[in-house]
Amino acid sequence: MPTQRIQTEARKFALQNAILFNGKANEKAVAGKVIAALKKDGVTPAEIFPVVVKVVTLVNSMSAHDQLTELTSLAPELLQKEKKERDFSLPPLPFAEKGKVVTRFPPEPNGYLHIGHAKAAIIDYEYARMYDGKFILRFDDTNPENAHPEFYDAQKEDLRWLGVEWDSEYHTSDHLETHYKLAEQLIKQGDAYLCKCTSEVIKEGRFNAKTCSCREDRTGEEALDLWKDMLASPEVSGILRLHGEMGSDNTAMRDPTLFRVIEAEHPLTGDKYHVWPTYDFAGAVEDSISGVTHPFRTKEYELRDPVYFRILSLLNLRAPHLMEFSRLSIDGMPVSKRKIKPLIEQGLVTGFDDVRLPTLRGLKRRGIVPEAIKQFVLQQGFSKVESVVDFSLVESVNRKFLDSRVKRYYFVPTPVQLSVDGAPKKTVKLSLHPDATLCWRRAHPRDC
Ligand SMILES: [Zn+2]
Repeated sequence: MPTQRIQTEARKFALQNAILFNGKANEKAVAGKVIAALKKDGVTPAEIFPVVVKVVTLVNSMSAHDQLTELTSLAPELLQKEKKERDFSLPPLPFAEKGKVVTRFPPEPNGYLHIGHAKAAIIDYEYARMYDGKFILRFDDTNPENAHPEFYDAQKEDLRWLGVEWDSEYHTSDHLETHYKLAEQLIKQGDAYLCKCTSEVIKEGRFNAKTCSCREDRTGEEALDLWKDMLASPEVSGILRLHGEMGSDNTAMRDPTLFRVIEAEHPLTGDKYHVWPTYDFAGAVEDSISGVTHPFRTKEYELRDPVYFRILSLLNLRAPHLMEFSRLSIDGMPVSKRKIKPLIEQGLVTGFDDVRLPTLRGLKRRGIVPEAIKQFVLQQGFSKVESVVDFSLVESVNRKFLDSRVKRYYFVPTPVQLSVDGAPKKTVKLSLHPDATLCWRRAHPRDC
């Protein structure tokens, strides 16, 4: 193998490596690429390494401009290939305009965030950034039984750790008066009615696609009076239901509940309100009135999409471009609050930050870095196809981030002491990182 060939390969990879790392190529990284490229020709690392050292020194003395110019003419494909390998950006959004995209992350303040939340938050945040848009953090706290004061701050802390920054934040509970006005509008239009049936009757009606007498018997005015009574006193029972399609094959459209009475102290509004909107109503209304252009939600809500659009259409509110992605499932891991909570309650795990849990706090304690979570999420993309991934994927991405910065510690589990008569006394210094060992050896070649 002529040295010329090794030089050409080394030059290409040294330029590529230098361009990626602020003009300074790394000998080891370049050598690795050259060895891989010339392996089939039977070239040994011993032949390659001295050539690489010389080439890297030369390349590192060049200006960034010259490095780029030379690689562009020598091997332009290396510029593109590396870009492609490192590019985990998301696909373009439909109907998206630069500077006009608004996304939101709407957690319920009822627990610490887990990797499933991280997926949603990262996708929302990345899209807003990609289009120079706006990213809103909205606390969907319209079930006072599920909203807990400590989780508003805890979730913000979790997001900050993840590296997700929001442009504005608010609570859905701030807008309750607006929701009441919109509910009144629906009642007046005859598009919503007060139902006073028991939950069993409502369930049975939905199952059999049969409307209850509340829908047919009450005029708009009667329904409005009942609604006002309900707002005035928690003792007036009932729910506000959408005048949907009882005959629809989609059970979500069978007169879904829009408001219900929940008598519990709310962490922010105290006992001021007792009539609370459901996710169907609050989610659709908030996305629209807060200017969100591309709300994302998991595929499990797909059947509820017609409810979302029906509510907005009846209220004459702008309909955003609703986007869906698959729920994140990790083999053998409870990626949901519903599954995590009982494990804590039964004492099977030590708490929300148990290292076996996929909560962000658990992952942090396990040694997973936020950059790895972000890259893992972006690598998965946001396809609607449900898939179960193995946690080793997260660990493998994490390793790439940790490899260059963690110290290596070794131990010998069952050491045996040996005495060598007449051996010269020598002190050996071990580095905590292999790269450092390399440099240290170069600096002190006699000691190696
Ligand atoms: Zn009824």
